[in-house]
Amino acid sequence: MAVNLDRFAQGLPDPQDAEVMAYCEGCGREIYEGEDVYVVDGVILHAEWDCLYQYIDPEFMTVEEALGLEAKK
Ligand SMILES: [Zn+2]
Repeated sequence: MAVNLDRFAQGLPDPQDAEVMAYCEGCGREIYEGEDVYVVDGVILHAEWDCLYQYIDPEFMTVEEALGLEAKK
């Protein structure tokens, strides 16, 4: 008897068939069932650096600027 393993050979499930479980607060795209996620203070993000970075959106500056200090010249 033949066993159809096609659905196991594809790796990730077809997005058309996967159920949308949540939306990523970083990139805004759908998060499908079975996907890995990051959770930051209850906010769900794809388990990807880009999504985490987009959500946190850190400012880049010197430590003196961050502390409100004038950099010594
Ligand atoms: Zn995302």
